[in-house]
Amino acid sequence: MVSCKDRTAELDPGLQRVVCCCAECAEAQPDMALRPRMTFSAWETHCGSKNKKWHTSLKIVPGSGLDALPAGAKQVSMGAFLARRGLKVGKYARSDLPDKLYLEPVVKAPKKK
Ligand SMILES: [Zn+2]
Repeated sequence: MVSCKDRTAELDPGLQRVVCCCAECAEAQPDMALRPRMTFSAWETHCGSKNKKWHTSLKIVPGSGLDALPAGAKQVSMGAFLARRGLKVGKYARSDLPDKLYLEPVVKAPKKK
């Protein structure tokens, strides 16, 4: 699970997308499975962050299913989390290539609950 501002979302490490858990999205689509997958940057904007730097605005919620971050661990940003795993944030995706990933391929995907 990741957080940004006062909202949280389920992280999909394989797709590099998130599914938003905010009240607004829950009302629009109560079924999590059918809710749209958002890119990190789209979700950052959705949360009201104007940073346009999802790797620092998005934080991993400790104890939300990632072994590396048990409950009580210090909250880390996505960028720091990826860097710790030897992954780097690629060049920003071009808007005409919405599915182009920002990251180098995830060799070892973080474990999801
Ligand atoms: Zn939402």
